[in-house]
Parts: sequence; C-alpha cells; structure tokens
Amino acid sequence: MAIKRSWAEPYKIKMVEPVYITTEAHREKVLAEAGYNTFLLRSEDVYIDLLTDSGTSAMSDRQWAGLMMGDEAYAGSRNFYHLEETIQKYYSYKYIVPTHQGRGAEHILSQILISKGDYLPGNMYFTTTKLHQELAGGTFVDVIVDEAHDSESLFKFKGNVDLNKLEALIDKVGANKIPYVCIATTVNMAGGQPISMANLKQVRELTSKHGIKIIHDMTRVAENAFMIQQNEAGYQDKSVAEIVYEICALTDGATMSAKKDAMVNIGGFLAVNDPDLFDKARNMVVVYEGLHTYGGMAGRDMEALAIGITESVQDAHIRARVGQVKYLGEQLLKTGVPIVKPIGTHGVFLDAKKFLPHISQDKFPAQTLAAEIYLDSGVRAMERGVVSSGRNAETGQHNFPKLELVRLTIPRRVYTQAHMDVIAESVSNVYERRDSIKGMKMIYEPEYLRFFQARFEKL
Ligand SMILES: *Cc1c(COP(=O)(O)O)cnc(C)c1O
Repeated sequence: MAIKRSWAEPYKIKMVEPVYITTEAHREKVLAEAGYNTFLLRSEDVYIDLLTDSGTSAMSDRQWAGLMMGDEAYAGSRNFYHLEETIQKYYSYKYIVPTHQGRGAEHILSQILISKGDYLPGNMYFTTTKLHQELAGGTFVDVIVDEAHDSESLFKFKGNVDLNKLEALIDKVGANKIPYVCIATTVNMAGGQPISMANLKQVRELTSKHGIKIIHDMTRVAENAFMIQQNEAGYQDKSVAEIVYEICALTDGATMSAKKDAMVNIGGFLAVNDPDLFDKARNMVVVYEGLHTYGGMAGRDMEALAIGITESVQDAHIRARVGQVKYLGEQLLKTGVPIVKPIGTHGVFLDAKKFLPHISQDKFPAQTLAAEIYLDSGVRAMERGVVSSGRNAETGQHNFPKLELVRLTIPRRVYTQAHMDVIAESVSNVYERRDSIKGMKMIYEPEYLRFFQARFEKL
C-alpha cells in the first residue's frame, strides 16, 4: 500500500511581514468609505489580500540576492544577457525585447502586427490584450470552446480553442485579415483554465496551413504545463520544464507579464523568432519603454526575473502552487459553496449567481459578495462580473456576462494553509447567511475600466 504524503511547500520562511486583523466595526466604516469597491480599500485595512496574483508573489532568497547583482549600465547590462539566455533555454524563443510589464509588450506587438480592419481570434479575451488590439485597429474574436462559459462543466481543458469557430472565421474574413491567433496559457478570464497540448497542436496545424502566426500570452504557462502533466495522456512522465518548452516551441512569439508565473513584482517581455519582427520591435521599444537591453526594467529587475523563470518551471514549486489553490477550492466545495469547476490554477472563482440567486444581475451580485467577504473577515477579493464587463458601446446598457464571479486569487509563496482555512471559513460563513444579503446600486461610474473606481451603496 502506498504511504500517504501530502504536498508541502518546497521552501521554508526566512522573513515575515505582519498582517493585522481589524474589527468588524472598522471594516464596516472603511468599506463604506471605499464605496463598497475592494479596489478602493487601503492595503493596511486588508487581512488576507486575494485581489490579484499579479506582482504580489514572494521572491526567493536567490532572487533577492540577484537584486544586489544588478548591472545598471544604460546599455548592454549583463543581467539582460542572463535574462535572454534564460528565456531561450526555458521558453525556446530566439529574440527578446524587455518591457516594463505585460501590457508594454502587448502594445509593441499590436502596433507592429495589426493593421486597421484585422481580426484577432483568441481563447477568450484579456482586458489589456483586447484593448491594445483595438487601439491598433483590430477586432477581437472569441474562439474558445463553449465549455469555458459554463461554470458547471467539468471539462479539463476549458482553455481549448474551438477549431470550428476558428476555421469559420478564416473562411469568413480570409487569412490575410488575421495576422495572428492569440493563445493564452492559462485562460485568466475563464477561471484559470488550461489549454491541452493536443489542441494547441491542432491550432498550429490549422494556422500553418493558412500562414497565420500564433502569439502566446504566456503569463501562466508553467501552471498550464502542470495541468497538462496531470491530466493529458502521454505527459505524466515529462517534467513541467519540458512541457513549458514544448508549448512555447509550437508558437511564433510571446508576450509575457512576468508579474505572474515568474514571481517578480514588476517586469515583462516580448519574444519572437522572426528576425524582421524583432528588428521592428527593437525600433519601437526605444520610443515607449527604454533601450532594447532594458525595456522598462532596471538591471536588478532583469536578474530577479531570470532567476524567477528558472524557479517557476520546477515541478516541486508548481505542484505546491497549484496544490494550494486546489486545497482552498476543495475546502469550499465541502461546505457547498458554488465555485467554478474544475478548480483553476491561480485562484478560486465563486459563482455569485448561484451564491446569491435572489439578487438580480443589475444589482451586482459579485460586487456585493466581494464586499460581504471583506466585511466578514478582512479577506479582499475581486469582482469579475457585470461591473468588469462594462457597457455596450452602442446601446449604453450594461453587458450582462454569463459568468458573474468573485475571484479569490492566490499570490505565489505568500500565504499558508492556515490562511486558506480562514478564507474558506469566512466564505462559508457568508454563504450561511446569504439570504439576508441585499444587492447594491452604483452611485459613481467612471468612463473607462469602471470596475477599478466605481462606487456603490447598499440597497
Ligand atoms: C496580467 C495579464 C496581462 C497583462 O500584464 P500586465 O503585466 O498586468 O501589464 C496580460 N494577459 C494576461 C492573461 C494577464 O493575466
């Protein structure tokens, strides 16, 4: 009989940062002051911060040591060459342009590849990616499988592309109107769901036939690779590093937000294999980010990033990272809390429509739920529902998305299993008193990306 061995963190803690539990009266007061929007809370008033996993991860002692090795030369910093070698080694891409974060890379890529009237198919949209495509004159087209929009579907690869949808678009607009297909690993807006290697290979085959590029939004590629290792036939004996390399090698280039997988607080890059594209990107980066050997990063940032990439593809690391998220999801499932299934890789997504079925979508159930969780315990979550979806540009009406979610996003290497227990207890507690919760009305609405600064009042 196999001996039971739980997963545990492959590190020990050397330095701690205190967090404080506030009183309910204090939370009530600051929440009202913040217009019931968790983005407007001060971090000091938060006990466990699950707003995002972006730039919030803990660096290792190796990464901190790397900061001291920063070569801050304006041109040709040795840290750039270390970063370049690391990206070539683990991600396969030949040419690298550093940027200040992911959207800096998206900006440059969109400007050099997209012409007015082009179409950009993708496995679901991401806010900044889509906006940069639109600013360059393109139109995003969602070609993700239908299962991605269904929180109950147990399909293991909800990040897959529906090849029929992609083929139909190519037939309709013509391959010359599609500069590239954007493939995200994993799909953030679908709840941290992976794409399978088999599906990516099919996308590669179809796009190659039509001379269309694949651009990889590789923000969480190691998490995606882990899910392939766990769930796709033929990958059980491959390391996460090998699978990451194989994914990247199937694509023509990538944009990276290093604030996620690669565990730095700021940074990103654009990577391509085509020397002409590289030339164009290198010309543009000096206008918007900085010289081509630092982009928007200091030498020390590039060093910490190179080390972070190496750590991010280690099996022991990624197993514990995704294992912690899964642990939280399973605790919630035990008490009947409705969540998106299967559990994603970077967070647990609460299904607010099922959690608060008596609150109609125009009374902002996910926004309300995020506020109630904060009130209960000081745990900060984020709305991903009607507020995040904004309004229809033509009719001026709210967009009502199928998925009305609250995201509990877990930073990497920051919180312990005991924190996960507290989060689960708090969400379950709110679930038990759900019938007494009423919706909200919006009293201030900014024009762009309203979820960041909108204000609400309790009904
Ligand atoms: C965060 C993110 C981006 C944008 O990166 P930033 O570093 O925040 O600019 C792009 N795509 C996905 C999937 C992301 O999660």
